[in-house]
Amino acid sequence: MDREQQRKYWREYAEKRRKSSTYREEQRLIYRKWYKKHGRKRKKDYILCISEWQKSNPEAVKASYLLRESIRKGQISRSKKCSKCREVNRIVAHHPNYKEPLNIIWLCTSCHKLIHNVLTKNRKNATM
Ligand SMILES: [Zn+2]
Ligand SMILES: [Zn+2]
Repeated sequence: MDREQQRKYWREYAEKRRKSSTYREEQRLIYRKWYKKHGRKRKKDYILCISEWQKSNPEAVKASYLLRESIRKGQISRSKKCSKCREVNRIVAHHPNYKEPLNIIWLCTSCHKLIHNVLTKNRKNATM
């Protein structure tokens, strides 16, 4: 592959990623969470916030990376349905345990949000 070809490859790859609705939905979810915490004004700190989150959640980052790789290689296929409510739109992968990156549950974004709300609540209760 020469340089021009390589550039083209990456451009197409980025394009595909942007068009994938799951990816967009994941991004939107992260944005929304962040806005809720910091307000809409500090938009430019978003990137910083993400990298901080990645630093403090290395297992989550690694798990989602490994999962993405397996999907790319065809070892795991994306589900078309939410395993809870059978919703067919906006399906994301949820990791019950980041130590098992390929052990995932496919959920729609609303069920996913719900699960995480419960998880954070439980965590808070545990520390109280
Ligand atoms: Zn659902
Ligand atoms: Zn999750």
